[in-house]
Amino acid sequence: MSKQIIAFISQLALTEQESWIRQLSEVLPDENIVLADVLTQAQKQQCEIAIVANPDPNVVKQFTHLKWCQSLWAGVDSLLAAFKHSQQVLDDNINFKLSRLIDPQLAQTMSEAVLTWVLYFHRDMHLYQQQQSNAVWHQIDYKLASERTVGILGLGELGQSSALRLIDNGFNVIGWSRNEKHIKGVHCISGEQGLTELAVKSDIVVCLLPLTPGTRSLINENFLQQLAKDTCLINFARGGIINTPDLLNALNNKMLAHAVLDVFDQEPLSSNSPLWQHNNITILPHISAPTHIKSASRIVAGSIKKYRKTGQLPTCVNLNQGY
Ligand code: NAP
Repeated sequence: MSKQIIAFISQLALTEQESWIRQLSEVLPDENIVLADVLTQAQKQQCEIAIVANPDPNVVKQFTHLKWCQSLWAGVDSLLAAFKHSQQVLDDNINFKLSRLIDPQLAQTMSEAVLTWVLYFHRDMHLYQQQQSNAVWHQIDYKLASERTVGILGLGELGQSSALRLIDNGFNVIGWSRNEKHIKGVHCISGEQGLTELAVKSDIVVCLLPLTPGTRSLINENFLQQLAKDTCLINFARGGIINTPDLLNALNNKMLAHAVLDVFDQEPLSSNSPLWQHNNITILPHISAPTHIKSASRIVAGSIKKYRKTGQLPTCVNLNQGY
């Protein structure tokens, strides 16, 4: 039986696309994974499945019989925004389902990054860094991890794994999500009141929400003014969840102590952004949880094999909710 074609639709550098195709082909020997550009119009119209990474929506549009689009990234906000921009409205009438990467390895990598920076703040490294720049020798009183509370915004794949890792390391954890969760050891909350409780009680706030119309600018003046002044903020989710002028204002007015930012509205962050120069901001170049090509390929292969065998798709993005 001849192999079926799976389109690989991406605007990544060609060498990166080729690495993905090589890796995916290795774990999917029964499939023919092909760059979208080299397919004929007829082949494009026969494709049922596409694997996408930053795809051009106009190219996706050429695949008129797609049933399923599997993204290689965990977040789908930029993909949905690109479709919206190209005036292709993704809604329930669209003839394909969209799934994102759900990879336990990615959750493990993210929880490692969360633990790293929570420990950094817990052991007052941001304060010692500043003491060093002023040649100050001062020993700050030590607190136990059990005397610190970490508030996690978003209790999905990445938030839950991070919460459990922090619990294992002795921290108190509060987790906020749309639907209230039950996670052993985590104080799970939701809603407006829950958000206020998290802001008021947290020593360290970690953002792991998806960027959607409901979360854009969620970390704004209103949220920031509820924090205690020595609270630290970690944003490993998406830049648009923080209102940047409000954050700068809050830091300048000592409403919080420090922010670690891994994600920005525009990436790379412009060299003239005021964020670079701020003493109380640490900038990271979107490195907290990179997709691991081998692990992600195995996950995608598992889903495709299951689909071929049973017709069952993995959990798909709810387009109304945007995640
Ligand atoms: P996920 O499994 O979809 O979880 C999202 C969580 O956010 C869920 O708990 C959800 O609540 C909650 N949520 C969504 N909208 C909300 C709202 N309006 N109010 C309250 N809670 C809300 O996502 P994930 O896999 O954990 O990934 C989270 C994000 O991390 C991704 O979207 C991506 O942007 C980012 N990310 C960043 C990196 C990096 O390297 N910096 C790497 C990977 C991913 P429910 O559970 O109630 O639905």
